[in-house]
Parts: sequence; structure tokens; C-alpha cells
Amino acid sequence: MSNVSTPAAGIIDDRLADVSPLLFLGGKWRAAADGASFPVRDPATDNVLAYVPNASMAEASEAVRAAERALPAWRATTAAERSTLLRRLFDLVVEKREWLALIMSLEEGKPVDEALGEIAYGAGFLEWAAEEAKRVSGEIIPASDPSKRILVLRQGVGVTASIAPWNFPLAMITRKLGPALAAGCTQVIKPARETPLTAMALCGLVEEAGFPPGTVNLVTGSAAMIGETWFSDMAVRKVSFTGSTEVGQRLIELSAQNVTRLSLELGGHAPVIIFPDVDIEAAAAEAVRGKYRNTGQSCISPNRYYVHDAIYDDFVECFTEGSRALTVGPGTKPGVQVGPLIDDAAVAKAVAHVEEAQARGGKVTTGGRTVDLGQGYTDRFYEPTVITDVAPDALVCREETFAPIAPMVRFTSEADAIRMANDTVFGLAAYFFTQDVGRVMRVAEGLDYGIVGINDCLPSTAQAPFGGMKQSGLGREGGHFVMDEYTEVKYLSLKI
Ligand code: NAP
Repeated sequence: MSNVSTPAAGIIDDRLADVSPLLFLGGKWRAAADGASFPVRDPATDNVLAYVPNASMAEASEAVRAAERALPAWRATTAAERSTLLRRLFDLVVEKREWLALIMSLEEGKPVDEALGEIAYGAGFLEWAAEEAKRVSGEIIPASDPSKRILVLRQGVGVTASIAPWNFPLAMITRKLGPALAAGCTQVIKPARETPLTAMALCGLVEEAGFPPGTVNLVTGSAAMIGETWFSDMAVRKVSFTGSTEVGQRLIELSAQNVTRLSLELGGHAPVIIFPDVDIEAAAAEAVRGKYRNTGQSCISPNRYYVHDAIYDDFVECFTEGSRALTVGPGTKPGVQVGPLIDDAAVAKAVAHVEEAQARGGKVTTGGRTVDLGQGYTDRFYEPTVITDVAPDALVCREETFAPIAPMVRFTSEADAIRMANDTVFGLAAYFFTQDVGRVMRVAEGLDYGIVGINDCLPSTAQAPFGGMKQSGLGREGGHFVMDEYTEVKYLSLKI
């Protein structure tokens, strides 16, 4: 990559002065050897926040070598030592949460209060991993032959890689890093192009916590190049990816060459079913909370609402009122609840989805346009939007919208609602609202989704298994389940 025209890696916005905008390789902070960089921008203003290194293939590879060198010593630490360091990292993330929240809000756009929520959630994975580190144990299985003993060991897989998206810049890294370190693995990290600064700040805390050099490494630059470099490196024994289904499919192909273990946390299209026996106001309030989190830019964001005919009008009215009451603006402004969309392409997609739904008979009850915040701000602020009478096969009901748009569809029978909810290639999260115990079990069992929220649109938490079915992914992250992803099972047959 030529460096002739790119500025040196460095912070431009003074509010980020404490972040080191560099590669983190083998415990050392460095610019790209050829000086190449790319800008990180504030989605609310388009102002450049920093220039970060555009790493070369040699540097992507060097990250793996550093992780490989650090592996034997890290693997040899006791679970108690790993636990102590992870706990220290958790404490630092909690202590520095205001600083991290500002960085995250500036580069991703989410309101600071919401960023604080993500930091608490993301720190939870480190705390859980600190505890789980002590519980990675094997088994002794009774043998059929009296002269034999069968022992099963669980050992860390080795060097691991994590590739993260921009929409949860901290939590999507700690969800992979925590369990990897707990299992005795080292890691190389590639954050998203839009949000490398939160990841760099986290690596600063990794260093401060006292993890040995090379245990954690970070590379920024061309995603395709970094992906190809890591998948073609036999030392990388596992990659955990969170991002779009399209890229996930490409990584499955890349993983074939070295039979690299792969966890995939991919896209979603979450249905929400509102049955007629609910408290309408309470259900609408919860559904609004879930919908507009991170401006609708979440893989488990409610994407389409199936509302029973008997309560359809009342629910839509409550949901519309709740949507209209939200304050849109830059994430760093106090009181803002809905920040900007990440880029212009995201706005174009939102506009296209709403126009297509309207062309097919959908009626907008609130929103449906961008908000002009005046000079200095981008056109990426989109009003919380509710569309009624949407065709069940409209684009907004099929493609991941990633915007603050809530399409409403009527239903009359439970079976129809389940059928429409399952009519998608995705299978990440689904939600439904009811007070009927029998229906809770029938519907939960009928939904083809890895996560089902019942009267709950915010189900994510560190101790639960997060992941999807169908094209939403492979594997689970969170809770004790994730430890299977970072450990190999080794069977010893001992003749005595
Ligand atoms: P994305 O475009 O797939 O990118 C995700 C990450 O993959 C980024 O770091 C990206 O790097 C990298 N990448 C892109 N192409 C690559 C390649 N050929 N090889 C290796 N890495 C590559 O997704 P996104 O737009 O950042 O995130 C939004 C998507 O993530 C949505 O579909 C959302 O549903 C999904 N998501 C899923 C979960 C979950 O847990 N299931 C959680 C959050 C988000 P660059 O940024 O440098 O291009």
C-alpha cells in the first residue's frame, strides 16, 4: 500500500488525546512501517477524529507471530493467574467507562448513556471469563478394559483471531477476547474500519492490566487482506467473526484451506409477535426500547412487528406515540436517545425501504424522513419511523434494515404469526409478548431462532448463549457455552 498521500497516524480531535491510534503488536504501539493510514470519522459531523494505521500484509502476519510467541508462556499460566488478570481488565474497563463511552459515542454515534450500557455489557464478558477461567475442566470416563484409564483434557485451541463489527465496538471484542484469554489462548484483533479507537483504548487497558506482551494484538487496515493473511496462516487455529452474513459466507470459504475453526455471529431479521392478551402500553414501551437501541443498528434489533388484529390499532397508536417522543441528535449531546446512522449508504437503505413499503400500501404514522440538525451536522439522522399495513413480503420485512424503522403487519392466528416469523433466511433473535403460559412454550418452541425474548426485547447478557440459526451463524458466545469454542477436547487412553 502506498503511503505518499496519507497523513501520519494520529489523533485529530482533542477529546481523544489519551487514545493511542496505532497498531498493537507484541506489546508495542506502532504506526504502519510505510506510514499508510486511513481516517476515522464522526458519523454525526463527518469530522475526522483520527488517522489510524493501514497495516501491510507483513504487519497482519507479524501480529500472528507475536501471538504465537506469547502462546507457550500464556498457556502455562494457571487458571487462577489468568483469572486475576482478566478481573483486573474488567475493573479497568469499569473504572474508565466514561472515557470509553465518549470514544465510542464519537466514532460510532450512539448516545453516551447507551455507550455506557454497552460498556457494562462488554465488561460483563471479561468478568464472566475471569470466573469461567477456573472452571475449564476435563473428565475421567470409566473404561471397559480394566487395564485402561480414559482421561479427557480440555486445552486452549492456540492462537485465535477476532474480527469485529462497528455497531458494538467494545462488546463484540470482549465477548471473544475474554473467553479466549480464559482458555489460555492468545489473540489477534481486527476492529471495524469505522470504530478502531474503542478497540485501541481497550488494548491500552490490556497493557495497563499487565497481560504479557503478544497475548493480545491489534491490527487495522484492509479487511480482505487481513482476513486472507490470517486464514492462510496455520498458526491461527480459530477465528471468531461478528458481522454480515455476506462476509461470514466468504470466511467459511477461507476457513477451508487450513480447516480453521470458525464462530460466526451474523445478521438477523427479528420478528416481534404481539398477542392480544398483553398490557398494550407496557408491550409497546418495551418494543420501542428494543427497536431504537443503537438507532436500530443491532443484529437483534426488532425488524418487523406482527400484531394481533384485535389490538392492532391500539398497539400501533402506543408504539407511534413512544417513537415520536424520542429525541434525535448527536450521541454526545445530553438527552439524545437516537443518534445518527453510521454512513450515507445506511440512510439510502432506510429511505429505499420506507419508499418501497409506502409504494405497496404502507402508511407512515410517524417519521419517514431525515432530520435536519443544521450546519455542521450530516444528513444521517433519521426519524424514528412507524409504518402500518406493510406487505408481509416488503423489503423492510425481509432485508436487515439497520435503521430506526418499525413495520407493522396484522395477524389473526398463532400459527400464521409463527409461520410469518419463521419465513426468513435468518434465525438470530425473535420476540413475542403474551401472558398465556401455554402459548409461551408453544410459540417459543415453534420459533426457529437462537434467542427468543418473551415480553423482553433486550435479552443480551454475558452469562447467556448468544448466537443464531440458519444464515445467522454458527456457534454460541457467552456463558459457559463459549468455552467450547476456544478449547480442544483431547482424549488420553492410558494403559496401566
Ligand atoms: P461487515 O461489513 O460484515 O464487517 C464486519 C467486520 O468484518 C469488520 O471488521 C470488517 O472490516 C470485516 N470484514 C469485511 N470484509 C472482510 C473480509 N473479506 N475478510 C475479513 N474481514 C472482513 O459488518 P458490519 O457492517 O461491520 O456490521 C453489521 C453486521 O454485523 C450486520 O449484519 C449485523 O447484523 C451483524 N452483527 C451481528 C451480531 C451477532 O452477534 N450476530 C452482532 C453485531 C452485528 P472493515 O470494517 O474494515 O470492512
